[in-house]
Amino acid sequence: MLNIEIDEHSGFCFGVTTAIKKAEEELQKGEKLYCLGDIVHNRIECDRLEKLGLITINYEEFCKLHNAKVLFRAHGEPPTTYEIAQKNNLEIIDATCPVVLKLQQRIKKKWQETSDDNSQIIIYGQSGHAEVLGLVGQTHGTATVIEKSSQISQLAKEKDTYIYSQTTKSLEGYKQVVSEIKKHINPDKQCESFNTVCGQVANRLDGIGKFAQSHELILFVCGKKSSNGRILFDECKKMNPNSYQIESPDDIDLSITKGVKSIGICGATSTPKWLMENCRQAIINYNNK
Ligand code: SF4
Repeated sequence: MLNIEIDEHSGFCFGVTTAIKKAEEELQKGEKLYCLGDIVHNRIECDRLEKLGLITINYEEFCKLHNAKVLFRAHGEPPTTYEIAQKNNLEIIDATCPVVLKLQQRIKKKWQETSDDNSQIIIYGQSGHAEVLGLVGQTHGTATVIEKSSQISQLAKEKDTYIYSQTTKSLEGYKQVVSEIKKHINPDKQCESFNTVCGQVANRLDGIGKFAQSHELILFVCGKKSSNGRILFDECKKMNPNSYQIESPDDIDLSITKGVKSIGICGATSTPKWLMENCRQAIINYNNK
């Protein structure tokens, strides 16, 4: 008897859930709604919303848009995006996640308190990621983004240093980088770190590892651009080498499910539950043939 379990803790975090709900509410009113960037790092969910009328635009298109309604997604935006919106008479539906918003405010406050040549703000995150651009924007572009330990040697040693993390980075990775930055900075300088990894991501890591261990085969459903997806999938793979990342039911090599007794389906904070359900159904259909 084949047992297929969907991880109850996988699926949209509250930031993404709220952004999608806001988009759906606006679309129900029948008005034209643009979204700056993919509303979620999941092409299939974006396609679903685009079929309901959501129009995804990039920054170039946004800059040329006038007199329209635009949704800002959970990742948040830098102040310059708000300035453009005001200049172009755009109505903003702001779905910035409250956790990201709070982090933006903290970074801005720290930058205002320390914006002199003797201090530096470091953000541990993925360079070019929308959330990171929003965070760096709070410092007028002066914060330094660190993606990996090898970049630490380039940091100034003789400055007071304040370290933050992109919300969707791994806590383990953040702690590692902080400990190396602390060794790098001159001991007579301040070096403060603030754990700003989102609990919705940090708390899932342990759970998903245990979930992965409890099944023979793991299918991790996630878009390729998802930052936390990469971290969560790596954990699955570490705990259960028989783990595969897929974007949709079409990606499942169904032959590998033959003869397997227990399959776990899980995903990232950007993976819709309905998509995991569709994966389960595809496996059931195949095995009932
Ligand atoms: S992962 Fe956390 S910070 Fe990021 S959108 Fe979700 S709830 Fe907000």
